[in-house]
This record gives sequence, C-alpha cells and structure tokens, in this order.
Amino acid sequence: MSVPFLPFNRPDVSDEEIDEVVAALRSGWTTSGPRAQKLEQQVREYTGAKNALAVNSCTAALHLALAALDIGPGDEVITTPLTFCATVNTILHVGGTPVLVDIGADFNIDPEHIAAAITPRTKAIVPVHMAGLPCDLDAIHALARQHGLAVIEDAAHAIGSSYKGVPIGAGPSDAVAFSFYATKNVSTGEGGMVTSPSLDLHNRMRTLCLHGISRDAWRRYTAEGSWFYDVVASGFKYNLSDIAAASGIHQLRAVDARNARRAEIAQRFDAAFADLDTLELPPRRDDSLHSWHLYILRLNLDRLTIDRGEFYDEMRKREIGCGVHFIPVFLHSYYRETLQLRDNCDKTRAEYPRILSLPLYPSLTDDEIERVIGAVREIATTCRRTHAVGVQAQ
Ligand SMILES: *Cc1c(COP(=O)(O)O)cnc(C)c1O
Repeated sequence: MSVPFLPFNRPDVSDEEIDEVVAALRSGWTTSGPRAQKLEQQVREYTGAKNALAVNSCTAALHLALAALDIGPGDEVITTPLTFCATVNTILHVGGTPVLVDIGADFNIDPEHIAAAITPRTKAIVPVHMAGLPCDLDAIHALARQHGLAVIEDAAHAIGSSYKGVPIGAGPSDAVAFSFYATKNVSTGEGGMVTSPSLDLHNRMRTLCLHGISRDAWRRYTAEGSWFYDVVASGFKYNLSDIAAASGIHQLRAVDARNARRAEIAQRFDAAFADLDTLELPPRRDDSLHSWHLYILRLNLDRLTIDRGEFYDEMRKREIGCGVHFIPVFLHSYYRETLQLRDNCDKTRAEYPRILSLPLYPSLTDDEIERVIGAVREIATTCRRTHAVGVQAQ
C-alpha cells in the first residue's frame, strides 16, 4: 500500500487571508497602498520596532539596508557561510566584499571568528538567525560598538523569535530584514519587511525602495497628493504590492499560534530521537525564543552505514521530502571562483555533510508527525553501524 507524498513544506492559507486578497483586488488599488501600510504598522506593533518598510523580498530588504548605509566598493561585510546565497549576493550588489567567517555550536556566526576577521575596511556585520534560533546579538553588538560597525540582521527565518526577551526586529541593530517568501513562517508568496530603530535610515530605505522618488505613488495619486515628485537617488523597485500585503496581514496575525505549533512539533521530534546515538538534535538557547523555521537534524556519520545523501534518499523512498540548509556559500562555483576566504570555516565544512532538514510546519497532522518520526527512527536504527569506526591514532 502506498502512502501519499509528504512534502518538505506546505503553505498555511486561511479563509480570512483569501478574502483579504480578493478585497485588495476589488478595491481598485493593487500596488503598495493601505494594506502595505497596515502590514508595516502590524510589524511595528508585533516586534516593537520603531520603523518598518514593506518590501517585495528579504533580498530587497538586505540590499536596501546595505545601500542606505552607504556600503560600497572597498568595504568589507562579515557574514556567515551557512546561509542562503541572497545574504552574500546583496553585499556584492552594492560592490562590497563579503567576508565569510565560521559558525559556532549554535550554527550561527561565531562572534570570536567575527572579531578575528575585522580589519580597518570592515563596515558591517550581517548575522543570520539560522533556522530561527537567535544569534548571540549581545556579543555581536559589543564588537560593532567597539569597531564602529553597522549590524544588519538577516532575520529571514526569525519572525516571532526573540533574543533575551527582545523580539527580533526591535533590537539596536541598524536594520533587520525579514522574508515573507512562500516557505517562511509568514508568507506573502514573495515579500519581506525591513525594520530599523533609525528614522533617518528608514527614510533613506523608503526612498531607495521606489526608484529614489521622494514621494510614493500612493500619496501622488490620491486626493491629498500633488503631481510633483523628484528623483533624489538611483533607487530600486522593491515595494510590496497590496495584494501580497493582504496575505501578510492575516499571516502575521496567525504567526504566534503557528510558531507555537512548530515548537511543539520540534519538541516531539527531540523527544522521539533523544535515545538514538546516530543522530544529534538541533541546538537551542535557554534565554531566547526560537521560531522553528527549520528542524535541522545532524547525522552522526561515524555511527551510520549511510551518508546524508543516502539518508535523504531513504526518506524519499518513504515518500517524505527533506531539505539541506544550507550548502555553504563558499562551495557554490561562483563564490569558489570569486571569493577569497580569510577564515577556513572548519566547523561549517564539518557540519555540512551531516545536516538534514525534516518537514516542520504547522499543518503537519499528528499522523504525519508520527510518519516522519517512524521513518527517521527506522533509517537511523537499521543503518546503524554495529561496530563503531575506530578512532585513528594521531
Ligand atoms: C529565504 C532567505 C533569504 C531570502 O529571502 P527572499 O524573501 O526570498 O528574498 C535570505 N536569507 C536567508 C537566510 C533565507 O533563508
């Protein structure tokens, strides 16, 4: 008897969200307007951020922040290799030099490795809250203050996370970039948000977000507007449509409940795998709230007869989709050929072959959770080495 395929990800869409999208379409205003403004207000209220700008991706948010901070040719930006390529591409888009430094035990950029990579040319740090687990922001901000560096958080995974009681988005970083991409904890299909404590930086990002035009279209074409506008910079086209924002309004309202369900599933996975010496559970922090965007299992390869690729294939044979987050940036051919590594990133290299992301999303049913658990346990048990690989003499 065959079972239906369980995808790695499945979007959550409520009836309220569908109705809001239809209402946006019927309203006569589909580009950035009242719904994008409402979503910005909701993000300010939800995170406690002073300013929020709705954009059409997290990539756009990162690019805007780097551009508005005047980071450009000759400037070095320190970030993690264990991320999606967008983190590094946006640094290249402004002409900056990405400097990749290794991760720590929490899978996030390691502040000690940041400190070792700082030079007089360093202008910014772009930490990524991997899987939704907050970075050690206190240590990162201490380095930033000491060396006069900007901090732009890649919070693509981290809507709903908080660090020592402070929601991600509300802290002292210059800018925090969220993703509302289809698979993220809040989705508008494509979309994002960038928050900032600085009204000045926010205003610069808002101008650059829409061609460098000094007033946005909403104000130009409504009764209160006038015909005049000025282009004050060569900006980009990164604004979020009201159709997308309509989704976001209801997605954001649901995020706490959905993240709580993610945390519950992560807890069940942890409990189900804790006794297996062939697996290692994802890192946690006692002082912070995890959004559980991803559940990244680590395989103890020296105790298994199969590698990660074969483990993935075994899951596929059981009709379960998994993922790998991420292929380290420096292993992709473009960066291999163009980026010089200052840090060998030994831990990232060691972790990459053994990471596997399991399906983790609120709409997983209890039966589906049991299916994932059953498959992982079966593979991890039947493919366990009966004799441990001998430790080689040094
Ligand atoms: C998804 C993702 C991005 C890019 O988000 P978009 O909204 O698709 O541009 C950036 N960084 C990380 C870590 C991501 O996972």
